[in-house]
Amino acid sequence: MDFAWTSAEQAFRERLRAFLAKTLPEDWERFSQHGPASPALTRYAETFCGALAREELLTPHWPVEIGGQGQDPWHQAILAEEMWIAGEPRGGQYMNVNWIGPTLIKYGSEEQRARYLPPIAEGRALWCQGFSEPGSGSDLASLRTRAVRDGDDYVVNGQKIWTSYAGLADTCFLLCRTSDDRKRGITILLVPMDTPGITVRQIPSIIGEGDIHEVFFDDMRVPATARLGEEGQAWEIIAYSLRNERLGIPRYALARAALDRAVAILRERGDFAREAVRIEAAQAAALCEAARLASYAIVTRRAEGEVVGQESSSARYATVLCERTVAEFVVEHVPEALADAHPYLKMHHQRGIVAGIAAGAAEIQLNIIASDVLGLPREPR
Ligand SMILES: Cc1cc2nc3c(=O)[nH]c(=O)nc-3n(C[C@H](O)[C@H](O)[C@H](O)COP(=O)(O)OP(=O)(O)OC[C@H]3O[C@@H](n4cnc5c(N)ncnc54)[C@H](O)[C@@H]3O)c2cc1C
Repeated sequence: MDFAWTSAEQAFRERLRAFLAKTLPEDWERFSQHGPASPALTRYAETFCGALAREELLTPHWPVEIGGQGQDPWHQAILAEEMWIAGEPRGGQYMNVNWIGPTLIKYGSEEQRARYLPPIAEGRALWCQGFSEPGSGSDLASLRTRAVRDGDDYVVNGQKIWTSYAGLADTCFLLCRTSDDRKRGITILLVPMDTPGITVRQIPSIIGEGDIHEVFFDDMRVPATARLGEEGQAWEIIAYSLRNERLGIPRYALARAALDRAVAILRERGDFAREAVRIEAAQAAALCEAARLASYAIVTRRAEGEVVGQESSSARYATVLCERTVAEFVVEHVPEALADAHPYLKMHHQRGIVAGIAAGAAEIQLNIIASDVLGLPREPR
């Protein structure tokens, strides 16, 4: 087995590093503490992604015909690692290029692809993901926001919650109930956020200003042409989307970079000589490495053309473990980082505290591993 990068992959990584060094502002590390979905970072991300797009580095894994370079999943993984190590300056654009774009490529109508793909490929679109509702987070299939067909339109009523980017997004990838069948009764609508009947309220949060929101739909009307795929096809489509999303978030790379910075600080002040500290650092480094390799196992299968299913939950859970362990190491040994002494470590902590909640709770990943990967019996209800 060969763990080395090819010269083309190594050159791609170097090119990304040079781009980041040349493009990010000098005070980037402090600036990035505004929070991953804050208005400040979201606005900066648009400029940054425009520059990435001009260098053909925004959607290298997309097909050539629609603005990509047709590169393999390894290039996608390297791109994501370098962006995360830099504190994800793409902001919410990561969603567009990782999963919203690829989902539209696979399931969108010609009109939807023509309308939505070019702005994503140029780095000037901002989407939000309207999935979770009060009482429907882990149990997404219980969602109740209802879309009722009325002539050529759908009329939508209900509420979403924890919606990142909703305050600034131009389009919502919205899950609605169109019939009472738990999974086959859910339909996706692509909804412009300036449609009358939408109200967005910000929820104050420790992750940063403007990060998460409640979104209310009161008799909101959209044409049936806003539907992605068929009525009731949402469950199949989001299974495809989330597989792409999960491949695209290498939190282990940022965690490892934060750990290395923390160790450098401890070494400099003579605190790394203590054996207990060294053991904790080694355990955290081993978890980061395990998460990286678990993720690479998935990328390998993708690169070989296989469809990867629930096994990606193992890589996700390994990543949550390493994120949490590094965050705890920093809180324990470099606590002043969180009081602004070390902006990079504070930024990692901010990103790390939601690992294992956002994009699906860690315990749910364990359930999936137990039932779908290991085939363990379920407890009778
Ligand atoms: C920063 C942030 C950004 C987010 N952005 C978005 C967004 O843009 N769009 C969006 O739609 N959502 C978003 N979310 C919501 C996120 O997807 C949900 O928080 C997540 O799915 C968990 O759902 P919940 O909050 O309803 O918790 P619950 O599902 O109520 O879970 C609460 C706890 O119970 C545990 N639990 C629940 N069911 C089980 C079970 N069957 N077995 C074992 N344990 C269980 C969970 O693991 C968790 O620890 C975001 C969340 C955060 C924190």
